[in-house]
Amino acid sequence: MKLGVIDYIDCAHFLPGHDKCGSLHGHTYKIEVVIEGEKKEGMIMDFSELKRSIKEGLSFFDHKTLNDLLPYPSVENICESIKTKLSEYISFPFTLRVWEGHGKWVEM
Ligand SMILES: [Zn+2]
Repeated sequence: MKLGVIDYIDCAHFLPGHDKCGSLHGHTYKIEVVIEGEKKEGMIMDFSELKRSIKEGLSFFDHKTLNDLLPYPSVENICESIKTKLSEYISFPFTLRVWEGHGKWVEM
């Protein structure tokens, strides 16, 4: 079974040398996490526990300038970095989808 939650972070970034994205600007990133596991006593995992874990992991990115954390904070690299961080907090296999504004996302 799969179970998903959504959270949001606000971040600033710029892509060095990029025509459109080369100047400092911000996005609200929608973060979708879908874990996969078996039910135990009716649940895979308590929603509130999962949300709390994700919020804690995302606090490393929220309201930060992503260029301070990553040399080239493309949404692909951001997704990879968030996946690594959240892996410390989530004990299930999970899929992560990071939306950069509306209509654009990366998943891994
Ligand atoms: Zn951007």
